[in-house]
Amino acid sequence: MSQTSFDIQQAAVIGAGTMGRGIVMCLANAGVAVQWVDNNPQMLDQALDSVAETYAHNVRQGRIDQAEADARMARVSAAADYSAIRNVDLVIEAVYENLELKQKIFRELDGLLKPEALLASNTSALDIDAIAAATRRPTQVLGLHFFSPAHIMKLLEIVRGAQTSPAALEAALALGKRMSKVSVVSGNCHGFIGNRMLHPYVLEARKMLLEGAYPHQVDAALQGFGFAMGPFRMYDVVGIDLEWRARDLAGKGQDAPEVQVDNRLCEMGRFGQKSGNGYYHYEPGSRQAEHDPEVDALVLRVSEELGFQRREIGPDEILERCLLALVNEGAKILQEGIAGSAHDIDLVYLNGYGFPADKGGPMAWADRQGLAAIHQRLLALETRQGDQWQPARLIGDLAAQGKGFAER
Ligand code: NAD
Repeated sequence: MSQTSFDIQQAAVIGAGTMGRGIVMCLANAGVAVQWVDNNPQMLDQALDSVAETYAHNVRQGRIDQAEADARMARVSAAADYSAIRNVDLVIEAVYENLELKQKIFRELDGLLKPEALLASNTSALDIDAIAAATRRPTQVLGLHFFSPAHIMKLLEIVRGAQTSPAALEAALALGKRMSKVSVVSGNCHGFIGNRMLHPYVLEARKMLLEGAYPHQVDAALQGFGFAMGPFRMYDVVGIDLEWRARDLAGKGQDAPEVQVDNRLCEMGRFGQKSGNGYYHYEPGSRQAEHDPEVDALVLRVSEELGFQRREIGPDEILERCLLALVNEGAKILQEGIAGSAHDIDLVYLNGYGFPADKGGPMAWADRQGLAAIHQRLLALETRQGDQWQPARLIGDLAAQGKGFAER
């Protein structure tokens, strides 16, 4: 397939929820005509209104003029079904995070779309190869992982499946550029670069709640380091219930001690900002996270019920565990070839996860500490807390050579 075949003029977005709305605006703002499909017509109507309202707001703020708002809106149209989108050059799917559902949609689209069309999924973590396997065009299937809100966040993870062709990747990178995104290519693994690293980072934060810390203390330490928000404020923004429901759907993982505080919050209807309460309290109409002593009492109760002997956990330990969890997973991602360079990992964390810009990203931060020191600190954690801290092989290798991640 020649590269010019992937010239993207017309796109379709499947799904008119949180992500679909932002993705549609990214495309329309970049001059790409978008047809929009959702199997819930009411959702699609609401989504079209919300896009129109965002553009009207941009005009009121003086960010764009009325003519530009009209031109952007004119590029967006509702499509009744898949047959209406058979001529598009690219489809971006943003329906529920469910592999079987995504496979079904990709299979159906594959049968309908022209042979040179690209098929992308906005999945946060699912296996791109398993999605591609539902089609007869796996070389033209890839992940386009936007971050919420998609029309604002700069980062775009472009996920390369085992069979994704270089030309398809080139087309995705060119589209990323047109949408003014910071694009980073990631290999295919659970969670890709960003969410895979987030997992051990959040796990440490949750463990520390059980061992003796409170959510506001963990967040304060990380925000003190310079993060835009700590992990618990982040969960309040994203919605604590998303992972809770996903654990339920998967039928596993609901029993792990680390998720018991989340489970209890969700059972109380404390889903985060959207419900006015989560790890923090929010006054009606406000996004200001207010410390809630009821949450501290809940954390204390849960950890005591689980038999933990609570102890004082200071900001230094919070930073050590959260940052080293990020760095160690980042090193594994690098040694496995999931990320092309340490710089790519840093771009993901700076542009998608609020890592402090002046620290240069987790891998640059680690390089500044010196990898020999990082290696020693991981070994110390391994001695105190167990195997999960075993340093990535790459860290030991680079430390022995006196090199950093950047010189690999
Ligand atoms: P959402 O629940 O807000 O929206 C999903 C939409 O898909 C709904 O409008 C629903 O009606 C529609 N839909 C469901 N089945 C459909 C079908 N068969 N055909 C057409 N439309 C269908 O979900 P979301 O938060 O926008 O997430 C969408 C995807 O993006 C998921 O894969 C998610 O993991 C991923 N993602 C989400 C975020 C986030 O912060 N919300 C960030 C990055 C990626």
